[in-house]
Amino acid sequence: MNKHVEIEKSTIKKMIKIYCKAKHNPANEFCESCQKLVEYTDLKTDKCVFGDLKPACSSCPIHCYSKIYRDKIKEVMRFSGPRMLYISPRRTILHFLNVFHTKKMLKNKSVKDIIKTQKEKNKINITF
Ligand code: SF4
Ligand SMILES: [Zn+2]
Repeated sequence: MNKHVEIEKSTIKKMIKIYCKAKHNPANEFCESCQKLVEYTDLKTDKCVFGDLKPACSSCPIHCYSKIYRDKIKEVMRFSGPRMLYISPRRTILHFLNVFHTKKMLKNKSVKDIIKTQKEKNKINITF
């Protein structure tokens, strides 16, 4: 897996963990509902149409999440976002760099073109 995508996945997971611990006090790492959210975000990240150029979901023009999970992740972000700055400043900086990169990328290229390039890149990767 691409390192950038790996960081994205673990950052989202960390944010859900902070939220779950404070709001649901789970016996295990996550409560049942947050575990489902982790699995959903993992799946969406793995299948992201932007591939290794995956932007931050919060600044994504597509937003592929279903409404129920979109609302859930927004709540998690609102709660855990400011806390992440203290708990994991490095990850927070990487996240903001990704948001910045997304805006720059979308300014220079259309979403359609990015997806097309990514699809072609994947085809080449499979061939080799
Ligand atoms: S919301 Fe956007 S960036 Fe996030 S997984 Fe879906 S398509 Fe990719
Ligand atoms: Zn929870």
